[in-house]
Formats: sequence, structure tokens, C-alpha cells
Amino acid sequence: MKKLGFGLMRLPIIDNKNDQIDLDALKEMVDAFLDQGFTYFDTAWFYHQEQSEVAIGQALVARHPRESFVLADKLPVALFHPENKSPEALREEMESYFSKQLEKTGAGYFDYYLLHSLDKEKFSIAKTYQAYEFIKEKKAKGLIKEIGFSFHDTSPVLEEILKAYPDVDFVQLQINYLDWNHESIQSKKNYQLVRKYGKKIIVMEPVKGGTLSRLPETMAQALKERDPAASQASWALAFAASLEGVFMVLSGMSNMDQLKDNMARMENFTPLSQKDQDFLIEEGEKLKARKFIGCTECEYCLGKCPKHIPIPRYFTLYNWDHLGLGLDPKGRYKKTLQNQTPPDQCIACGACETICPQHLEIIDLLKKVDQYFDK
Ligand code: SF4
Ligand code: SF4
Repeated sequence: MKKLGFGLMRLPIIDNKNDQIDLDALKEMVDAFLDQGFTYFDTAWFYHQEQSEVAIGQALVARHPRESFVLADKLPVALFHPENKSPEALREEMESYFSKQLEKTGAGYFDYYLLHSLDKEKFSIAKTYQAYEFIKEKKAKGLIKEIGFSFHDTSPVLEEILKAYPDVDFVQLQINYLDWNHESIQSKKNYQLVRKYGKKIIVMEPVKGGTLSRLPETMAQALKERDPAASQASWALAFAASLEGVFMVLSGMSNMDQLKDNMARMENFTPLSQKDQDFLIEEGEKLKARKFIGCTECEYCLGKCPKHIPIPRYFTLYNWDHLGLGLDPKGRYKKTLQNQTPPDQCIACGACETICPQHLEIIDLLKKVDQYFDK
């Protein structure tokens, strides 16, 4: 299988509305992807405010033979609340999500199925629900081919999970050259640990939500000098795909140009040399020193905010200014304020922080962004 997976969390949308996926554009992208021999698609309950599964059902599943692609989906553990529920009720809840996912996608079965976004807290909830046992049963019944979990926490927590789920087929990790030595994301440590346990690895966020495709000028220049033909995003993909044991690298693609660029890099993939990998890690360290906000624009928080604050939008604009990208972040910030809820309207309910896979302190960060642009 070719190593590039189509992440379905940043699809083309209509009128800037995250829950309105441009189906025609998606169909074209799906067809182009399959035409080039790529087969892996990755969706989830949360993506595009619960519309990603429906859209891929229409753009892919309904239009192509089931055996011509593989589809990954995920159990949304972040939505589980076990308090005061019987074991039967917990199981029914999982059954309900799983059957709705089969219905939304029309897939009949999932090739890959994950416990979504485990960290210390969600692992504990998954244990209470017996979620791993649940997906194992589905695998035994042929409704899932391979089971795994995606992970956002430190390596001691990861080891606890790997010990608890010894027969897991694969693990999905956040790996990119910016987070390689990150104190809390721990790409390198987590990667090494999963290798130690001999599990296959799927990489998510190889471009860090687009951050590694919009680099400051000095860094962009350094990459260009090394390979004039390679795009910034393609360097980031190549870093993740070059690691031994990685069998799939997921990339969220929003338009045909991004899709083509990614496919060109991964078509006949040649791993980077160790020297190139070390160079990227060094560049990543310099980038980290710019103290931007580590938001990956996954948008999980959007559906949670009672005030409808466009959290990732504000963080992106803040980052653009910190990375010296031009693009008029201050002007765009003012424009955003004209028709969207300003950051100072946050009521500190914490709903966004509970779901944020990057564990960002969103309430404080929104204050910081507000003060920064207000100055
Ligand atoms: S803490 Fe603020 S930003 Fe987060 S969900 Fe609540 S109101 Fe929205
Ligand atoms: S703030 Fe967190 S949940 Fe929201 S888009 Fe960024 S990374 Fe995702």
C-alpha cells in the first residue's frame, strides 16, 4: 500500500462553513487520489462537525468498489461520560456510535478502527467503557479488519496503554519534525516506544496542521537551497514517511493542488537521508523558539464552544504574525471580529479544553491573543 493517507478533516468547504463540505470538489479529489494508486482514507466522528463520514460515504463509498479503498474510522471516546450508567448502557452507547458510523459512511465494515485520541483521562474512560474489548469483538465479527488507537500524551501513558492492549494492531501518533523533541507531545519518545512494542505506526499531523507548509522566510530559503523542487509540505511528509515502521502518513488536504503536491512526493517515495532528517529537526527547534501556539486547526473545539468563538482562526492569525508570514494577520483579525464572536466573549466554561488533543490552555491563550491584537 502506498504510504500517503487522505485525512478527511480539512476538506474543501462552501462559504467558509466547516460543516458544509464541497462534495463536487471532494469527489474530484477522491478520484484523482484513487487514480494514482493511493487507497487509504481516514475519517472520524468529529471531523467537519460530524459531516466528514457522510461526505466520504457519498464521494467515495457510494461511487467506488468497496475493495478498491481502505477506510479508517474512530470511536469518539471524548464524548463518553460513564457517570451513573450501567455496563449495559455504556455498551449500548458504543453500539449506537458504531452503527451510526457504518450507516453514515455506508462502508459495511472498517478496514482500520481506532479508539480516538487517547490520553491519560480518555484511556481511563475507555477502560470503564471496555471500549477496547468492544472493538475487538467487532473485529472478531469481521466488521473491523485492524484495531488501534490514536494517541496524544506522554510516553509513560503510552506505555501503560500498550501494556493494557498487547494485541493492538497499530498505533496512530502525532509525528513531525517540529514536535520531535517537544516536551509534552514527545513525537520521538512515543515513536521509539511503539517501535519497541513492535506495532505498526500511522502518522498524523505530519505538517502540524499546515504550520510546516507556511514557514518563515529564512527557513523556507534553507529548505529551497537543499532541494529547489520540493515544497515545504513535502519535506514534512517525507520526514514522517522516512521513519522505519511507519506504514501510513495521513495528510489533511483541502484542495487539488495540495493533493497533487502530496501525491507527487509519495508516488515513488525515497526516504530522506539521516543528514536531511537531522537538518529538519534542527530547523524545527529554531521554529519552536518563536513561541507560537501549537494549534493544529483540527477544529474539534468548534462544535463545543457555546459562544461559537472561532478559536483556531484566532490562533492561526496570532501564529502568522509570530512567524513573520506577512498575510496581513492584523487586518484579517479585525475583519474576523466584524462577523464572528471576539475572543473576549469566552466564558471560561472549559468545554474546548476538554476536547483539545493538543492540550492547549485555550482560555488563557484567547486572552493572550485578544491582548496581543488589541495593543
Ligand atoms: S472556554 Fe471559552 S472558548 Fe472554550 S468553549 Fe468555553 S466559551 Fe468557548
Ligand atoms: S485549539 Fe485544540 S481543538 Fe481547537 S483547533 Fe486547535 S488543536 Fe484543535
